[in-house]
Amino acid sequence: MKPILDELYHKNTSSPEGLLYLLDHLDSEAQELLSTYSHQTRLKHYGRQVYLRGLIEFSNVCIRNCLYCGIRRDNPKVDRYRLTQEEILDCCREGHILGYRTYVLQSGEDPYYTDERLVELITAIKAEFHDAAVTLSLGERPYESYQRLFAAGANRYLLRHETASESLYQRLHPDSNFHNRRQCLKHLKDIGYQVGAGFMVGLPGQTNEDLVQDLMFLKVLEPEMVGIGPFIPHGQTPLGRIKGGTVEKTLIMLALTRLLLPEVLLPSTTAMGTLDSLGWEKAIKVGANVVMPNLSPVKVRDKYELYDGKIWTGDESAHCRGCIEKRIIGAGFEVNMGRGDHPTWRR
Ligand code: SAM
Repeated sequence: MKPILDELYHKNTSSPEGLLYLLDHLDSEAQELLSTYSHQTRLKHYGRQVYLRGLIEFSNVCIRNCLYCGIRRDNPKVDRYRLTQEEILDCCREGHILGYRTYVLQSGEDPYYTDERLVELITAIKAEFHDAAVTLSLGERPYESYQRLFAAGANRYLLRHETASESLYQRLHPDSNFHNRRQCLKHLKDIGYQVGAGFMVGLPGQTNEDLVQDLMFLKVLEPEMVGIGPFIPHGQTPLGRIKGGTVEKTLIMLALTRLLLPEVLLPSTTAMGTLDSLGWEKAIKVGANVVMPNLSPVKVRDKYELYDGKIWTGDESAHCRGCIEKRIIGAGFEVNMGRGDHPTWRR
């Protein structure tokens, strides 16, 4: 066990067999060493800095039918909404006053937001906030669309690969294509975005072999950001009664990702904060270095319900910067309100 962890720490690499052995046999002593190594690695590359990004969930309309997702097309109980350009700009304005310098625009796959509408939106944000970065998370789009949004000024794109196991992916996404999603990630990289991939932990039927595939996929893709969170069931989906992922396993995957991709921007996700009131702090202590508080208007926050119990009032609100800072400082870290580009971009 120790040689595998040492190789991860000193060389930032491992074989699939080594990673599988680790996941299958990790005891509390090895887990402690893993956390120490991942924490030391984050200190080396980022010190104690944690970047804050303002998350704007601007539409919960979605044409996809992912089995796990609360806003899937076939959930008739969702109260669907779309924010106008002016409403989205207002969120950015509030965020700017609060000090946020990255706006993460996320939505379901909503065809209303055509390239023309998005180009106009991105152009308006960039014209008003020269010092801010725009991150998009809109799902799968054609290459030309990604190109147009990049040319309009978008800097980053989050598109989790969800799972690197083809059979698991196809079971969970009956109307989507495993290869297309991965192709989208490659397109985004080619175009020049800072790219975020990522996966859920504890998906039904997911094995340690599948999780090793996730890590190996990330190692090859080398994304600038990686979003990892536990799967949490949503009662109005076909997986509503299935057991979800755990905080503990997610922490292990976060720590391994920090070791394999030492410079990666690694969010401590809302799903972690939902499962455990100290979930954010725990993730930060094993190497996460980004928090994305919610900047969406309060009137729509409970409508973007991806899973049961998703937190939407309280500390995760971008408006309560003081609460967030207090928690980050309380955990022994520092808040950085800069754009927080990946080191490769800064270099
Ligand atoms: N439509 C965009 C896309 O496909 O990437 C962005 C929105 S999508 C709702 C954002 C992320 O939510 C997904 O990548 C997925 O990993 C996560 N998610 C959805 N349902 C979830 C659940 N039940 N538990 C945990 N995470 C979930």
